[in-house]
Amino acid sequence: MFTELIFTETGLTVIVGAGPTGLTLARQLGRYGLPYRIVDRSPKLFDGSRAKGLQPRTLEILDDLGLISRFLAAGGAYPPLRAHLPGGGTHEFRLDELHDPVPSVPYPNLLMIPQWRTSELLADGIAVELGTGLTGLTRIDGGMRVTLDTGETVDARYVVGADGGGSTVRKLLGIGFEGETHEEERMLVADVRLTGLDRDHWHVWPGPERTFRLGLCPLPGTDWFQLTAPASPLSPAGLVAAVDPSITVTEVGWTSEYRANVRMASRFRDGDVFLAGDAAHVHSPAGGQGLNTGIQDAYNLGWKLATGSSTILDTYEEERLPVAAAVLGISTRLHRRHADGEEDAMRRDDPVLRQLSLNYRGTTLAAEHRPQPGAVRAGDRAPDAPLTNSRVFDLLRGRTPPCWLSAGPESCRSFRFRSVM
Ligand SMILES: Cc1cc2nc3c(=O)[nH]c(=O)nc-3n(C[C@H](O)[C@H](O)[C@H](O)COP(=O)(O)OP(=O)(O)OC[C@H]3O[C@@H](n4cnc5c(N)ncnc54)[C@H](O)[C@@H]3O)c2cc1C
Repeated sequence: MFTELIFTETGLTVIVGAGPTGLTLARQLGRYGLPYRIVDRSPKLFDGSRAKGLQPRTLEILDDLGLISRFLAAGGAYPPLRAHLPGGGTHEFRLDELHDPVPSVPYPNLLMIPQWRTSELLADGIAVELGTGLTGLTRIDGGMRVTLDTGETVDARYVVGADGGGSTVRKLLGIGFEGETHEEERMLVADVRLTGLDRDHWHVWPGPERTFRLGLCPLPGTDWFQLTAPASPLSPAGLVAAVDPSITVTEVGWTSEYRANVRMASRFRDGDVFLAGDAAHVHSPAGGQGLNTGIQDAYNLGWKLATGSSTILDTYEEERLPVAAAVLGISTRLHRRHADGEEDAMRRDDPVLRQLSLNYRGTTLAAEHRPQPGAVRAGDRAPDAPLTNSRVFDLLRGRTPPCWLSAGPESCRSFRFRSVM
């Protein structure tokens, strides 16, 4: 069906928002040689630790983008948790066991890396126009006219709203964002420097009846801890002193209070405008899926924009909306377990969380023609495997893999995998 598919000279894409989603998309468009501008209304890139977990599926995308060694060098494995029990004593456990790499899964574990570092690494070499917000969108012949708060108007072939949960793009399009906000469940997240605590554990202080009182997680490659606690009138220093007066907070950096927010856009595409990342779906942070899902949205959308084919672009929503809905379900379940004080609520050993089993089976681009398909089916993630002088992932990396002519990089990953085996 898509055998004629080739890259076309599409016009300018305006990416609104330079969070992890927008930056990943800029990288994708850059490597396909597509013209783009990326604007962010903030005067600087995000500087908080917020989303600190990259899932294995995201690490494979970073491998494909040629960034994996920099991420692995900057991040680290999740440390074991040490619970400081209310009655005295400690209890140690892991969110998930550490998995050994195998040929098909070279990056089997969550990588801990603060979000500001993720943004910094993704933004390296990308000309982000900071302090430049989108304020208006109008349809024009062959695309969209974008109005910026600098007074400039820009005519674009495509616009991508990667502008976070409060997305201006989504609101201007009038796309619904249905779901729930749990006003009563407010959490504080802050970056703190402190003395008096080892950096080998993610320290947690449970309250009475399995409630959560405080967490202090050492952030790899930095001398900061990420503090999490139910919102409180106490300062970060006061919260820490209340659980252990021998720990002293010496500096407080980025601080944020958030409410559990579970919402999803009713559409991810409106003509020449697309929504990606938090602009399209917001989740509970439980399970560390949000940033990862945004990066994967951008990876999916990038090559489709490069085709300039409206039929292909329709498959962005077809593939990614069900993924976002599933992620919303998982993170909400984990959030509830936490809020209800269930035993082992912090365990993260469900393999679904690693996102390697996400697939697009049965969608337009993933027709499975074999009467008895093997373990890897059309629409699945292609596993890695060693080759004589390289790996399957190496073979598939690059701007124009030969299989591009048959479908797209994600679908063709499976095709190439089968052909080399
Ligand atoms: C406490 C906490 C912990 C989390 N932990 C995890 C985790 O471990 N793993 C995980 O995967 N996710 C986690 N998340 C979620 C994650 O932080 C988000 O999913 C992620 O930041 C979304 O990235 P994004 O690029 O889509 O949006 P954002 O990071 O929100 O970026 C949007 C950008 O758009 C810009 N912008 C907004 N409006 C405009 C405009 N009109 N014009 C121009 N620019 C604009 C903003 O300035 C911003 O820079 C966590 C979230 C929280 C709150």
